[in-house]
Parts: sequence; C-alpha cells; structure tokens
Amino acid sequence: MAFELIILGCGSATPTSTQHPTAQHLQIAERFFLIDCGEGTQQQLRKYKLRMSKVNRIFISHMHGDHYFGLIGLISSYHLLNRKTALHIYGPPELEQVIKVQLESSGTRLVYPLIFHATQTNSKELIFEDKMVEVFSFPLKHSVPVTGFLFREKEKERNMLGDKIEEFSIPHYDIKKIKQGADFTTQDGLVVPNKELTKDPLPPVSYAFCTDTAFMEKTATFISGVDVLYHESTFLQEDIARARKTKHSTAMQAAKVAAAANVKRLLLGHYSVRYEDNLLFEQEAKRTFTNATATHEGMRILATPKNITIKEV
Ligand SMILES: [Zn+2]
Repeated sequence: MAFELIILGCGSATPTSTQHPTAQHLQIAERFFLIDCGEGTQQQLRKYKLRMSKVNRIFISHMHGDHYFGLIGLISSYHLLNRKTALHIYGPPELEQVIKVQLESSGTRLVYPLIFHATQTNSKELIFEDKMVEVFSFPLKHSVPVTGFLFREKEKERNMLGDKIEEFSIPHYDIKKIKQGADFTTQDGLVVPNKELTKDPLPPVSYAFCTDTAFMEKTATFISGVDVLYHESTFLQEDIARARKTKHSTAMQAAKVAAAANVKRLLLGHYSVRYEDNLLFEQEAKRTFTNATATHEGMRILATPKNITIKEV
C-alpha cells in the first residue's frame, strides 16, 4: 500500500461522546506516521486496530490542546509497554518543555529514546527524509504559531525492462545505474539510450495537512499539485466573521485553497460543534471544488498515482 490515511479524529475544541479531536494515522511508502494527537488518540488507534508500536514519527501542528493532549498519554503507554525503538516528535519548541515537565513531575525515565525536533514558522522546511519519503513543514496562520505538513514519496527508480538485460547482455552491476537513468554501452561500443532500457516509474504520491489556519492564498504555493489535501473547515461561510475572529477557515475557503493548489482530492475536518450535519461542509466546498469530502472518524483514504478511493476501516 503506497498511501493510506485513517481519520482518528476530526472534531475541534472539546471531545464529545461521538467526536474526537484532530488525529490522523498515515501510512506512506511503508512508513507509519501520526499527525496531531488529540485527546483519546491511543484509544482510537486501538479501536481501528492500528499497530501503535509501528508509529515512529509524530507530527504536531501547534500548541492548542485539541491537537496534542493525547500525546503524553501515548508517550507514557509506550513506556509502560516497554518500547525499544526511538520515537521522533516534530512540533513547536514549547512542546518539548511541556513533555519534559510532565515526565519529570511524574518521575518517569523513559525506557526508549524520545527525540524531539523543533519546527519553525518562518518558511517551508524539510524536516525529515529517508530514501523513500520526505516531509516538510510550512507556516500557516492561527492565534498561536502553527505549521502544516507535507508528506511526499520520493521519485522512484526507473523500471528495468527484463528482456533488455538479455538482449544487450547487461551485467548485474550496471542495472542499478540504468535504473537511476544512465545509458548503457555494450562491449562493441554501442550506446543504448536509457529510454530503450527502462520505463517510467509510477509517480510519487503526496499528502498535505493544513490544520488550524485562517484562509491564506499563499498556502497553495506550499502544496501545489498534491494528490490529497486535508484542509480544516471549522466553519461554514455563513459564519465567516467568526472564522476570521478565531483565525479558522470556512469550507468554501478550504475549497479555494484546493482549487488554487490544483490538488486531486480535498478532505475537510475540524468541524465546530455548532453544526449538526458535517455534510453541510462538503456541500459548501463542492460549489467551488468538486472533489471534496467531509471526513469522519474511521474513514480510510487510499491513494495510488492513478486514483483515490474512500472506504471505512
Ligand atoms: Zn488551534
């Protein structure tokens, strides 16, 4: 599975009996990430039978409690479960202090390494990469410093055409270079261009997470062309004044960002409890951007370079 996003929570502010605050579980190129960690996230991971121990990196957008109050509980459970592997947390610098105070005041000395990476809100920044994936943070606009996150598979190697190996007697040690784009020279000095030996790999899949933010035209430039965009829609357009005051977005504004960034699919969430039906957000967004979906807990979004499908866990 190249890309699977599971919505663990999509409410805002206070948890209710039916709605958890923001948290998402992302699997991309065999990596397992948590994005925001509202209260109750670990129960949600268990409910949807996701392997907690596989999560090695957690990305926290900002210091409002509905985005990280589940974090200390999860850190603590990992300790009690005798986790061995390192846990990396990416978030605002203040978060490191909060975690420290909570661990120190309870006399907890973690049995696993916890590595904190502070984010900043001045510019887009590469905050993690390995050979398969890269993750960027980028600034959003809210009542406290906040970043969005962009997850992107790296360009894959070209696919070697099997019959060409035999046809040109290509030695094993040349195949890696050819997959990376090199031409091949035969023993007779004939140069075989790379495009005759390989075919294009599948394009990489990408995901942008735009949590609490006022509407910003600039956001689209950070996330241009992503396959899937989550953009908060706390309010409907009828409450635009309230959205401006609290530095949140409306469904229509989320749709404007999706259209400007030319994404394939827009996901909505972080709904204010004042509205009874979350489908109202979808209806409003669809007037500006057709491929809009109001998320709910347990929604599973699968993406390949060719299509995006929505299922339930
Ligand atoms: Zn917030």
